[in-house]
Amino acid sequence: MLRALPRISPSKHIQAALKPKFIPISVQKKLLHTDHEENKYVKIVEVGPRDGLQNEKQLIPVQTKVKLIELLAQAGLPVVETTSFVNPKWVPQMGDNHDVFTTIQKKANVSYPVLTPNLQGLKGALKAGAQEVAVFVAVTESFNRKNTNCSTEESLQRAGQVIKEALDNGLQVRGYLSCVLGCPYEGPVEPELVATMAKKLYDAGCYEISLGDTIGTGTPGSMNKLLTQVLKVVPANRVAVHCHDTYGQALANISKALDHGVRVVDSSVSGLGGCPYAPGAKGNVATEDVVYMLNGMGLETNVDLDALIDIGQWISNELGRDTGSRAGAALLAAKRAKLLRAKL
Ligand SMILES: [Zn+2]
Repeated sequence: MLRALPRISPSKHIQAALKPKFIPISVQKKLLHTDHEENKYVKIVEVGPRDGLQNEKQLIPVQTKVKLIELLAQAGLPVVETTSFVNPKWVPQMGDNHDVFTTIQKKANVSYPVLTPNLQGLKGALKAGAQEVAVFVAVTESFNRKNTNCSTEESLQRAGQVIKEALDNGLQVRGYLSCVLGCPYEGPVEPELVATMAKKLYDAGCYEISLGDTIGTGTPGSMNKLLTQVLKVVPANRVAVHCHDTYGQALANISKALDHGVRVVDSSVSGLGGCPYAPGAKGNVATEDVVYMLNGMGLETNVDLDALIDIGQWISNELGRDTGSRAGAALLAAKRAKLLRAKL
């Protein structure tokens, strides 16, 4: 029940404002509890089948991709980025986009976004029946010019056209910003610039802005500065982090983002996808490592880590390489040792 507050004189009002507020412990606990409960769930956006495989040198059969996507959804991942509707002349790895998207058995309550760099790509996505698309813009002029052959302003305009057309067709749109903590051509990036760009994509209609540390040079220090600026203009529940592990900083950076209230994390099973700017170096942070860390922090993902480890191992075998996940390798070794002991 609401009670009218007693009228107080301005001087008393100022005195009251200066006095440290007393909050009973029972209320403090309740406040903390509510806050904790509401923020306990972390949504993992699995980007392995698109961002990961796009950066693998070899071409992967459609059936392998389909199996990977279906297994990831079965393991509890709520979002599995499926493919990219990009010109196969530029990205031959994604030339099978229509086949992959239309072949997968889709699970209810799982999103299968696809990347659409332009209106042509959106057309393809609509034809395949996609319900969610993603657009991307780099925050630096040089990166946009070298990668998409147009200025940042033109990239934003192009993304804006795709966003509008997608929204008009009833789709959801996610916005990727790349190079948010560093650019391979321009070096460190101003957090204020990223914040301005994030706000533009958000205002244009993107329901979520994924901040990509494309070259993985960010540290918890620069992530802290970045989120301090971005969260002034975009709400924390509309922000995702997309950390690359090139310099071994991804988990530390994700942890810093969690401190800021961010609860959406992009990652790639087995750390699929290398780094095009540092051949041989790591790219996407591994989903297994992220889930292992979040479990340890008492946060929830609904992802079955055991199943995920097996998927990571399976796809790594398919690609003829070792898993890129530290937790994956460690847990698998422990599992094998246990099996061996059981046999002895
Ligand atoms: Zn990535």
